[in-house]
This record gives sequence, C-alpha cells and structure tokens, in this order.
Amino acid sequence: MLCCLGLFIGYAVGSFLGGPWTLVSPIAGFTLGLIGDMRLLGLSHRYLGGYGRGYCGGGSMQHKTLEKDVEDPVCGMRVNARTVKYKVNFNGKTYHFCSLACEAKFKKNPEMYVG
Ligand SMILES: [Zn+2]
Repeated sequence: MLCCLGLFIGYAVGSFLGGPWTLVSPIAGFTLGLIGDMRLLGLSHRYLGGYGRGYCGGGSMQHKTLEKDVEDPVCGMRVNARTVKYKVNFNGKTYHFCSLACEAKFKKNPEMYVG
C-alpha cells in the first residue's frame, strides 16, 4: 500500500534533512500515500463497477475464472461450459446460459444476442 511507502520515504527524507523534518516528513509522506491509496481504490471500484454487468440470479456464481468458461450471451455472465445445463445450438454454434431464464430469452430471439 502506498501509505506505508509514503511513510517509509518520508522517514528517509526526514532523517536526511534532520531537525523538525524527522517528525513532519513521515506524516506528510504517509498522508500523500494515503491519498494515493484512496485514488487507487476509487479507480478499482470504478473498474469493478463497470465490469460487474448484471447478474441474473439463479445458479451458483463463480468468481473463479476457469479455462472452460464461456460467456452467457444474454446477461454477460461467465459460465462453465463443462458443467452448465443450459445450452442452445444456433447456426452450428453452442451457446451456454447461466439459467433457464436466459436460455428462454435467447431461444425467443437468438439474432438479438448473436453477432
Ligand atoms: Zn444469464
């Protein structure tokens, strides 16, 4: 974390400068690092928010990305192609779904989700 790095750098700078800086510099470094940390956290939150496209309930959510994972074309969720029960063949390609609801939506209007 940047706050620890800031503290460390501040401490190093403070002991180099001597006098009151020995005390002031680590605090300043820590504060700067903390601000940096918060900005990083904010960014990752935004990133996750953008990535976490709608979960359509039903089925167990898998956070672990497996090699055999494929995308549910309806809701964008990752599903395991090997274990998933909901699949539809369309134009010679197999599509996998996280739930019966997504499968039904796809069957109703497959062109909407393909290509
Ligand atoms: Zn789905």
